[in-house]
Amino acid sequence: MTGQPARHASPQPAIVWFRRDLRLLDNPALSAALASGRPVLGAYILDRDGFFAAGGAQRWFLAGALESLSRGLSEIGVDLIIREGGEKDTILSLSRAANAAAVYWNRRYARAEIESDQQIKGHLKKSGLEAHSFNGALLREPFEIKSKTGGPYRVYTPFWNTLRAIGPGRREVGAPGPQKRITHSFSSDRLEDWRLRPTTPNWAKEFADEWRIGEQEAAGRLDAFLGGPAARYGEERNLPGIRGTSQLSPYLALGVISPLTIWNRTERAISERMIPEGEGLKFLSEIGWREFAYHLLYHNPTMPTAPLRAQFEHFPWRDDEAAFGAWTRGETGVPIIDAGMRELWRTGWMHNRVRMIVASFLVKNLLVPWQKGERWFWETLVDADPANNAASWQWVAGCGADAAPYFRIFNPVSQGEKFDPNGDYVRRFVPELARLPAAEIHAPWKAPTAIRPGDYPAPIIDLDQTRKRALEAYQSIKSAA
Ligand code: FAD
Repeated sequence: MTGQPARHASPQPAIVWFRRDLRLLDNPALSAALASGRPVLGAYILDRDGFFAAGGAQRWFLAGALESLSRGLSEIGVDLIIREGGEKDTILSLSRAANAAAVYWNRRYARAEIESDQQIKGHLKKSGLEAHSFNGALLREPFEIKSKTGGPYRVYTPFWNTLRAIGPGRREVGAPGPQKRITHSFSSDRLEDWRLRPTTPNWAKEFADEWRIGEQEAAGRLDAFLGGPAARYGEERNLPGIRGTSQLSPYLALGVISPLTIWNRTERAISERMIPEGEGLKFLSEIGWREFAYHLLYHNPTMPTAPLRAQFEHFPWRDDEAAFGAWTRGETGVPIIDAGMRELWRTGWMHNRVRMIVASFLVKNLLVPWQKGERWFWETLVDADPANNAASWQWVAGCGADAAPYFRIFNPVSQGEKFDPNGDYVRRFVPELARLPAAEIHAPWKAPTAIRPGDYPAPIIDLDQTRKRALEAYQSIKSAA
């Protein structure tokens, strides 16, 4: 990734500006740039003040994804220049310095990103450069899917039915072959100098046990999933104690694999009878939820920060720092909550079922604003995603489009008993409870004193009382609406 001493190349190069699309396979912007016949340079800009700048855990993943991208590009003769700075100034000055003829990128869908990209496009065109953008992130772009009345969808099922019926809007593009390497004189930052991986302390030391980063690894995970757990996905996707899901989310979040590649391979697995159709469709419908989240983000630009249901602006949230701190540390005294929050801290990921339970606990039992939970997840998830995270938090909080009704409040004890019946998941992440039998493990405060572990806290709240309190809080905005 270091710059190479040389002179300006001629003919003028094309720059591919990588963002959340860190891959060679099925990358429409990269393919189009290479097809233009111009020599190609890759660029990645780290804008720490950017709209969706990666949080701590995702920075760790980003380091590996950039190493892998740089290696992959280099193998085909394309150099990746990495620079830290404001994205607009950096891409404009790089394209000027490179005497580039064109800049290629894949589109983003948050309002601020769209506006920034439009501005950059305008500047490039004014300077006589071409600017080409593509859909590399979604099966269908948010403006391609319309309800019967011609507007955006707010409810998932009809959105999914439409997406299923029309299918992906483009064909997958293959990985590019070798190119003639362009000689250039651009300096690139050194990835190590960005310090994307924590050192003192290295709180991510267990991440490497969980994640191997790169396109091959993502493809391998997909194959392993389709060859195994996918056949039982409908049932096992809800059990946090086993690996019943694909764990492709961090790769999707940074674009190390494309949703179209996942879609096509899954359809093939269904047609080749590797997996039953029902299970395959269930998995594809989760990819559909990701598409729906982007649809919502595009059509509701304030979604990352403001509730989609306006009445929630007046919700009587509580500013309970002590409770929030206990939640973040996994010290609430409620086993499934603590297991989930510790899984998140140790691995950078949390099982979807448990994400729903811990989020419900935070916004309903503790009445902490969903935005605080969303921010914590953003900082600690390797798969933090601009659309999925906000949409999911709003869904759990009951204030989003097509959200779970607010009055459906998860009981973390019965959820634990139902989805982690043997307590394996809790035992893995909360070793203080490892000796408790399954019958006691989800409510240790009810266990006989003789076996109750002394080093595990009592619950910080009463689950029944806080449930009632949450319903009253909801009633207050319902009657005010
Ligand atoms: P699989 O079950 O294998 O599903 C495959 C893919 O489908 C996932 O990788 C993901 O891209 C997509 N998907 C699955 N479930 C959902 C869903 N409910 N909503 C949207 N897309 C989905 N997902 C993120 O990618 N980033 C986030 O920041 C994020 N934050 C969340 C916050 C909360 C409070 C909740 C309840 C869920 C959140 N999710 C988020 C959704 C979901 O939990 C994860 O996508 C899923 O757990 C990832 O695991 P997997 O790849 O094994 O999923």
